[in-house]
Amino acid sequence: MIRDGEPSFRESVDLMFNRAVRLMDLSPGLEQKIRVCNSTYTVRFGVRLRGKIETFTGYRSVHSEHMEPVKGGIRYALSVNQNEVEALAALMTYKCALVETPFGGSKGGLCIDPRAWDEHELELITRRFAYELIKRDLIHPAQNVPAPDMGTGEREMAWIADQYKRMNTTDINGNACVTGKPPHAGGIQGRVEATGRGVQYALQEFFRHPEDKAKAGLSGGLDGKRVIVQGLGNVGYHAAKFLSEEDGCRITAVIERDGALHNDAGLNIEDIRQWMLKQGSIKGYPSAAFVEDGTPLLEAECDILIPAALEGVIHMGNAARIKAPLIVEAANGPVTFGADEILREKGVVIIPDMYANAGGVTVSYFEWVKNLSHIRFGRMQRRAEEARSRLLVEELERLSADQGLGWTLSPDFKEKFLTGSDELALVRSGLDDTMRTAYQAMRAVWHTRDEVDDLRTAAYIVSIGRVAQSYRSKGL
Ligand code: GLU
Repeated sequence: MIRDGEPSFRESVDLMFNRAVRLMDLSPGLEQKIRVCNSTYTVRFGVRLRGKIETFTGYRSVHSEHMEPVKGGIRYALSVNQNEVEALAALMTYKCALVETPFGGSKGGLCIDPRAWDEHELELITRRFAYELIKRDLIHPAQNVPAPDMGTGEREMAWIADQYKRMNTTDINGNACVTGKPPHAGGIQGRVEATGRGVQYALQEFFRHPEDKAKAGLSGGLDGKRVIVQGLGNVGYHAAKFLSEEDGCRITAVIERDGALHNDAGLNIEDIRQWMLKQGSIKGYPSAAFVEDGTPLLEAECDILIPAALEGVIHMGNAARIKAPLIVEAANGPVTFGADEILREKGVVIIPDMYANAGGVTVSYFEWVKNLSHIRFGRMQRRAEEARSRLLVEELERLSADQGLGWTLSPDFKEKFLTGSDELALVRSGLDDTMRTAYQAMRAVWHTRDEVDDLRTAAYIVSIGRVAQSYRSKGL
């Protein structure tokens, strides 16, 4: 979505990159090497559907191979184009470096309206696209590992993994060629919720730092904060659900492509999602006010604005009117470069995309490691952990009885203490740790360098520094 006078998505990412490298001490050659996109493969392929041959255009762009495999989702949308795929691939490089997942950056896209085809047709199209990429090692456990993005999910990833394994029957690591697979087909618990869960952990970490909250003019905890969410797809839905059900946030508006719902008392996200799944739209939802044109709600009064849909939704045309003091970029590139400058002037704090939505690739990393180790997380330790906890509980109870102390452990404490960590608990723990650590790296730059007055520039400085280090150690 590019407006007049606004740089393209790719240019926006480069302008943000340039703003950060100006504050770094990189040789111009290395700076250029990191900025450019290494390669973009375009494929046009035909599939016989409904009695005729349909031609589709797809891309897989590799931004940086300082670490391999390279990583990034595959998007299905009619708006997919080379500029967008390259911008998203560049963001993947910086994202992976920021959250320390050992990957370079890549992204793929297919120009298709996934709603226009039925499941069987989508399988044929996906397998054919995968075939073209696998043939060129653009899907490969050691070289390029796709994942879901807009318009794709577990189902498509399962088809891609199966296609790879059909073409590489002796590759024992075949399952690691793609992440975001369903748990019964080599996936990992917690991958579907991961990006939304990461948004929640990012906000929890932000709210642990009073100075950071103060920069946005906020105080207190997440409880009772008014939140507006744009997009109730996988990311927006999970973020809004967890923030409202677990942290006490009040979701005052949900903006979707065909309208918006609002209620100052707070919306029930799970209820809305169920309605959407049944009706195919938020229209007609009985427990909130509906407006046909949801975009003005981006500018409504709230404490936290979470754009979780498309890129470029906050642009030079509406940035000045945004009232939220804190924006969390759950989508990739929702704020254009021009809008970013306006918002910074206004003192709005932006938790940038490369950090805020990194939960997806973080759990993808865990899935890839699981696939390569061929064992589920927790399988060896869980019962041993439980046995040690039981020893301690039994000893405490024995001491209490022997000494007549009359201590009793509450049943709730006992149950929690005696339950060993399963895969989901371990994935959430690893994700929480990743989000906290990455935030702290970013905020250290934000708070210690006078010239850095925003989290996005701080995030770029951290990740570009890491990519540069990796290139230097290769002798470049
Ligand atoms: N598509 C997601 C993103 O933009 C996930 C990428 C991945 O898991 O590799 O971060």
